[in-house]
Amino acid sequence: MSDLSAQMISTWLKDYANVINENASYLTDLDRQIGDADHGSNMARGMTAVASLDPASFASASALLKKAGMTLVSTVGGASGPLYGTFFLRLGTSLVEDGELTSAAFARAIKAGLDGIVARGKASPGDKTLVDALTEAVQAAQQAADQGKDLPATLQAASSAAEKGRDATIDMVARRGRASYLGERSKGHQDPGATSMALLIDSAARCLA
Ligand code: ADP
Ligand code: MG
Ligand code: MG
Repeated sequence: MSDLSAQMISTWLKDYANVINENASYLTDLDRQIGDADHGSNMARGMTAVASLDPASFASASALLKKAGMTLVSTVGGASGPLYGTFFLRLGTSLVEDGELTSAAFARAIKAGLDGIVARGKASPGDKTLVDALTEAVQAAQQAADQGKDLPATLQAASSAAEKGRDATIDMVARRGRASYLGERSKGHQDPGATSMALLIDSAARCLA
């Protein structure tokens, strides 16, 4: 059984900050193909600021998630800052109470995060954005929760699905964000934001189980 707390969320956020730092040049290289070569540095700047938040100064998981979201919005210029910021803010409003983190609560929280990203960025599945990875993760998590799977199995299903969604962006033509300026020429390249989103869900699977 996993108990949700500011400490647990901090473990996840710090792990993700490390993963982002390790993958920063990879993410920036992906963004060089279809964007402006800054996705790795944008995410690294934001997550380094988030990783410096001390869990001891937050009363709950919810409070830390909200602060993490606001930190991303304020430190990251570029599309990804407000979108990831909204994701964490919505997680914070969904996961209101500490205590046992259930499969259903995790599925509801990432669905709320997805809804926030869509409200803000107006991307649909198939537009070649981070929404493609997250939508797959949300569907897999909801299905696993409905089937009564435990939290580790649900997180694992969400992580595999996010990777599938990320891979599917390769053949898509971009319709949102900078990559959309390339039109058909965006095809054949993996979306950087979908790649960082799959890394986030994979980190959740390791840290929240
Ligand atoms: P910028 O494009 O401003 O340089 P980043 O390079 O940090 O910002 O982030 C680019 C990523 O943001 C894209 O790969 C895509 O996944 C995501 N993205 C861009 N616009 C949108 C949008 N409207 N909705 C969802 N995701 C988006
Ligand atoms: Mg960019
Ligand atoms: Mg940019």
